[in-house]
Amino acid sequence: MSNNPNNLSGDSTVGTWLADPAGGPVLRTMLAQGGQDGESLRPVAKLALNRLVEVSQGAFTQEMVDGLVQRVEAGDIPAEAAQTASASTGQAEAAPAVETPAWVEQVTAGRFSGKTIIITGAGSGIGRATASRVAREGGRVIAVDISTERLADFAAALPDGDIVTVAGDITDNAAVAAIVEAAGERIDGLANIAGIMDNMTPVHEVSDEIWNRVFNINVTGTMKLMRAVVPAMLAQAQGSIVNVASEAALRGSAAGAAYTASKHAVAGLTKSSAFMYGPSGIRVNAVAPGPVITNIEAKFDSPLGAARVRRAMAILPDAVEGDALAASITFLLSDDGVNVNGVILPSDGGWSAA
Ligand code: NAD
Repeated sequence: MSNNPNNLSGDSTVGTWLADPAGGPVLRTMLAQGGQDGESLRPVAKLALNRLVEVSQGAFTQEMVDGLVQRVEAGDIPAEAAQTASASTGQAEAAPAVETPAWVEQVTAGRFSGKTIIITGAGSGIGRATASRVAREGGRVIAVDISTERLADFAAALPDGDIVTVAGDITDNAAVAAIVEAAGERIDGLANIAGIMDNMTPVHEVSDEIWNRVFNINVTGTMKLMRAVVPAMLAQAQGSIVNVASEAALRGSAAGAAYTASKHAVAGLTKSSAFMYGPSGIRVNAVAPGPVITNIEAKFDSPLGAARVRRAMAILPDAVEGDALAASITFLLSDDGVNVNGVILPSDGGWSAA
């Protein structure tokens, strides 16, 4: 009889591995060697083990995946870990009887045909996924990022896409002027996605440097792009702006003071503009993502901040890939968002309802 009746492989999800009578103990033993337990993988339970190699930035290697599969196939199951597994609790251990089917992106051909959409942060994560979706749905994409290399990589991945790349810093007036210039006379949409995290510091520990940097990019940069595109949208009496906020725009427990305040400011900017320009045919909305697997860096520089935020993370939903956020953002950018103006739409698997 096979030692691997469930055919565990690198393509099996983390949740499947943890729930498997052989895979669970083998994986948990490996995690324990690094001072972790199965619970630490709970947010990525729906990802294939192989995907962890890509997203873990070196922490989880292909050799580790191969080693895990070999141990299961050899029937090399650690007894001690098996006991720990049965004693431990946690969502990842209690996999549902039927695994939730993976979501598959459905491209709506031509949804953005004839439209020019500016997308910031297009070099990575949520911005790249959104720019890709708009381009694949026929839109002309003005892809903006501070990283020239990331933009080149994005454009090369979609050789048939109508993509204009503009490398620049969204806090810089000259760069903003160049972005609008590249778009041309007609601007149908703007997705303000570029943003950075803070270092989880509560207000008594926040440095001027972190505060100013986070506000400059997340709030001032977002405002500058909006200010620059609204005249064209007013002239055509039509346009859709989508700002990316965060769960930190809805609650105090998702990040430090600077990031939380900056994303609340993004929500305010969104609502003010929705109110001001609604009658002129411009819709302005925000999407508040929950956890998303991207290149964004979150540091924990404060013991108090780390303890408080980690405690709140107990109710964190599974992390998703950028394409799940692109689905929400492109809905609001597209004409299907007609009649939706001034909302802060949580796209977080229900976190905001918890
Ligand atoms: P990411 O780091 O993968 O991508 C952000 C991109 O923005 C990068 O390519 C970066 O080079 C670019 N960028 C940063 N500063 C810039 C600047 N000044 N000018 C131009 N480009 C700049 O991050 P992501 O997770 O995709 O983040 C996108 C947005 O989503 C951010 O606003 C972030 O706050 C928000 N968000 C992310 C998460 C998450 O879990 N990843 C959750 C909530 C909200």
